[in-house]
Amino acid sequence: MAAASRIAVATIFVSIYAFGGLRTDLPASELLVGGLVILVLAASFGAVALLVIRMAPRRVLRLLLIPDLLCAMLLVAGTGMLVDPLYPWMIGLAMIYGAGLALRESAFFTVLVALSYAAGHLFGHVGHTPPDYALLAFKTLAIIVTAMMVGDVSRRQAQREMRLRQSQRHYHELNDRLSRRLSELRAISEITEIIHSTLDFEQVGNLVLEIVSKVIDLPASALFVIDKRRDETLYSASFGITPEVRKRTADSYEPRMQPHGEDTFACTTILERGTILVVFCASGERLEHLVAEDRLLLTAVANDLTIAVENSELYKLTKRMAITDELTGLNNYRFMLQRLDDEIERARRFGRTLSLLMLDADDFKLFNDTHGHVAGDVALSELAHVMQSAVRDIDVVCRYGGEEFAVLLPETDADGAFVAAEKMREAISSHAFADADGHKDQRITVSIGFSTFPHPAPDREALLRQADDALYAAKRTGRNRVRAPLAQSDSSQEEGRAERRKPGDI
Ligand code: GH3
Ligand code: MG
Ligand code: MG
Repeated sequence: MAAASRIAVATIFVSIYAFGGLRTDLPASELLVGGLVILVLAASFGAVALLVIRMAPRRVLRLLLIPDLLCAMLLVAGTGMLVDPLYPWMIGLAMIYGAGLALRESAFFTVLVALSYAAGHLFGHVGHTPPDYALLAFKTLAIIVTAMMVGDVSRRQAQREMRLRQSQRHYHELNDRLSRRLSELRAISEITEIIHSTLDFEQVGNLVLEIVSKVIDLPASALFVIDKRRDETLYSASFGITPEVRKRTADSYEPRMQPHGEDTFACTTILERGTILVVFCASGERLEHLVAEDRLLLTAVANDLTIAVENSELYKLTKRMAITDELTGLNNYRFMLQRLDDEIERARRFGRTLSLLMLDADDFKLFNDTHGHVAGDVALSELAHVMQSAVRDIDVVCRYGGEEFAVLLPETDADGAFVAAEKMREAISSHAFADADGHKDQRITVSIGFSTFPHPAPDREALLRQADDALYAAKRTGRNRVRAPLAQSDSSQEEGRAERRKPGDI
């Protein structure tokens, strides 16, 4: 109703002026009455259409256009004696105030404009014929009503635009969040692929962190997978930070805000599974403002990483077990052969020497028979320990098989090998081994044979065979002794042994 009746009244007022100015000579009460009747009918129809039938306002306006115009013309024709050229200007002025300001202010200013119009008229008529007071009041009111209506429409329009802008902003935000979620999902799938593409992923973590940092928009970050029970960092990775900061962070990974000198690097626990803890570190301020989605991404990555770390640990363990002797913890025969190849290659390339000791516990069967197999096992393990502590760090001690051992001595010539072997033999023979009751009063001796690359052993096979033959000679000549490679003549004496022994053959 509001829209229809307002437009109707506005049309009337404008028309009154337009036609009335031309028809000053024709005041006709029939036309006036006709116009008013149409006005009342149109307003009533508008009210019913909008409030009762709930017709769309635009449709009501269209339907009322003809009656409104007709009514306006009749009213103008009926009252048509106005000559008021400044009236449109006054209406325009009031409309400007009505539209441009807030409701209260605009009402106040509009009334002022209308009053100034009325005052002007009254003033202009002083000393002349008195004005038509009814018409003047009508026109003054028209100024106020028109201006207020225009103001109302423009305010509504402004509100609508504001709401539109708000919803646009909202959609933009939503869009941003969606595209961010999308890139997070892409990152997760990329990260999962990277993590699971390898079991040995020392460098993978840094790459993963780089992706995470880019998605979350962090200039630097670090991540630690920690075994709580052993208080050991199983895995760490970093992106955008110096090794010192990473080290400092690892040393004090406590999952709470922690200033680190000038840069406030802080850590937070993002995942806890069993004894495994995943700690994420970044700039303290950024870490505090991580949104739920960021945390979700971090947790997903941490989850993946933890599984991968566990798998990797398992893989490393399997790899270690494949080259480790279970009883003694020494490297096994397979590892020894591999290392022997590597060391010979290196010695050949750099023109260096390399020696190999072959060692066999003397009368170990007797030890087993006397103290039992379990005590024998303990003694072998202890023997390994004594051997290990009798050599240099670069020397490699392996269990060859049974109660036999091999020791690789890089950068060692024949004289050096003899000294090392003697030192080892003495260390063992002076060591007190435990019997079945745990009394440490048992002696074990070993026989050792050795040989040296490139002379007299020019390759791996010769080295193994010569050291083995020397060991056999040590056994034959009374045990608990070290024997160098046999001379050519001695070698012929060993011809009975057609093939090199397999581990544990002696
Ligand atoms: P020799 O001085 O000639 O080497 O005499 P030996 O008794 O040491 O040699 P032999 O080859 O006759 O016996 C080796 C013994 O080493 C037999 C076996 O019971 C023992 N042995 C080998 N491996 C193990 C092991 O893993 N644990 C234990 N307890 N004994 C082992
Ligand atoms: Mg033996
Ligand atoms: Mg043996």
